[in-house]
Amino acid sequence: MSVSYPNTSLLINGRWRDGQNERLAVINPATEERIGFVAHASTIDLDEALSAAENGFARWRRVSALDRSRIMRKAADLLRQRADQISVFMTLEQGKPLAEARAEIELAADTVEWFAEEGRRTYGRLVPARAANVTQMVVKEGVGPVAAFTPWNFPVNQATRKVAAALSAGCSFILKGPEETPASCAALAAAFVDAGLPDGVLNLVFGVPAEISSYLISSPVIRKISFTGSTPIGKHLASLAGTHMKRVTMELGGHAPAIVFNDANVERAATILAANKYRNAGQVCVAPTRFLVQDGVYEHFVERFVSAAKALKVGDGMLKDTTMGPLANGRRLEAIEGLVDDARSRGAEIALGGERTGNRGYFYQPTVLTGVPVQARTMNDEPFGPVAIVNRFSAYEDAIKEANRLPFGLAAYAYTKSAGTMAALSNDIESGMLGINHHGIGTAELPFGGVKESGYGSEGGPEAVEAYLNTKLVTQHVEPLM
Ligand code: NAD
Repeated sequence: MSVSYPNTSLLINGRWRDGQNERLAVINPATEERIGFVAHASTIDLDEALSAAENGFARWRRVSALDRSRIMRKAADLLRQRADQISVFMTLEQGKPLAEARAEIELAADTVEWFAEEGRRTYGRLVPARAANVTQMVVKEGVGPVAAFTPWNFPVNQATRKVAAALSAGCSFILKGPEETPASCAALAAAFVDAGLPDGVLNLVFGVPAEISSYLISSPVIRKISFTGSTPIGKHLASLAGTHMKRVTMELGGHAPAIVFNDANVERAATILAANKYRNAGQVCVAPTRFLVQDGVYEHFVERFVSAAKALKVGDGMLKDTTMGPLANGRRLEAIEGLVDDARSRGAEIALGGERTGNRGYFYQPTVLTGVPVQARTMNDEPFGPVAIVNRFSAYEDAIKEANRLPFGLAAYAYTKSAGTMAALSNDIESGMLGINHHGIGTAELPFGGVKESGYGSEGGPEAVEAYLNTKLVTQHVEPLM
């Protein structure tokens, strides 16, 4: 199938159009060539989006939950029908292998479908009254127009989690999509438009992130902010939202510990952890990053993990046999080079990789560092790239201390056969998600979110819909007919 990369427009009030500002270039990270342009919104465009979202909310909140669900299901079908085309857009702009891009579209379709159903179950409740002839109703209603900011690592899925939950709750939406990977994100919006979503319910803008976020967050039209990205930017946006007393969901950075105990199935642990470490070239907020391996299985684990990492085929994601693409942009390549050089200079050993691949495209070798001192930057900053840090530990308490040492608390993983260790871990680990003996994180029906500086709120499960609902009490006294 031959697919050419499209230019991306803004979507405002049901119309696809250019922005008032000069368009921004989109680069293919595998070739560093410009492949297209994305529209760039001015404040005039943002004002139109705000007005569209305000009117869109007035319409959408009156559409029954069943009819909202029908439109969402149709959007999910369209995503599936268009998956081949959208995955090519994604690979060209983001770099991930086509198979990973396709899996992302399939997951997005599942997610939209799941929220289409869950939105029909925002029940509210009746509370028995203390006085006669009083009815006390707890009613759930959509919070209002939402402004959301989503990143480039999963251009479709990061947006889908927010859009699907919000639409199912009856909210309208202004999405600031990722400027570096805009076309696949726009294809998500197009699926909703083509499925019959009323004009103004979903609006899509691109531009300068800081300008758009400060403008939208301070608008009285916007009632809820949702952001996925780094912790420093999340703190900044949460403080802006606080100034205007807006509700927020923050899905921020992580630095996931993966603890492998002496009694673990080491082959299984190494295989699953390596696959999840290098997926999307490591640019995954829940990727395992700090591997803590108990003395008795350390050598065996490192050998199996390195062998799994070695087997990866790094290349252009459009090529059939590629299993790891380039990093998504030049900033990531520079950051990873800096982290690895710093670790090396502090005495870490390079068990695999440690270098850029070639001199064109943002490719970096799957890398395994061992014996990394705690002062190394990569032990403290989220690596967000194909770098695994494998260190050894002796006692359970040492592993827990290291796992909980950082301000992050998004995902954590552990491998053990002991039920007692599993029970202790589920008490002791400070994280929003804990996967034991498998990965198992990220499907629509499961809560997805962090604690500590990894953010707050959930992007999966019923909790994700709740995040877009207000709770209203209506209490009424009615004299019965005599
Ligand atoms: P960054 O921190 O500048 O940006 C992260 C994301 O936030 C991007 O999508 C960007 O467009 C957006 N952003 C930046 N400033 C913003 C603002 N003022 N208002 C609204 N949105 C804003 O850096 P980056 O180079 O794009 O990414 C680097 C780091 O971001 C990574 O190391 C990783 O920690 C984090 N990140 C996390 C996720 C995630 O899934 N949690 C995704 C992408 C990036």
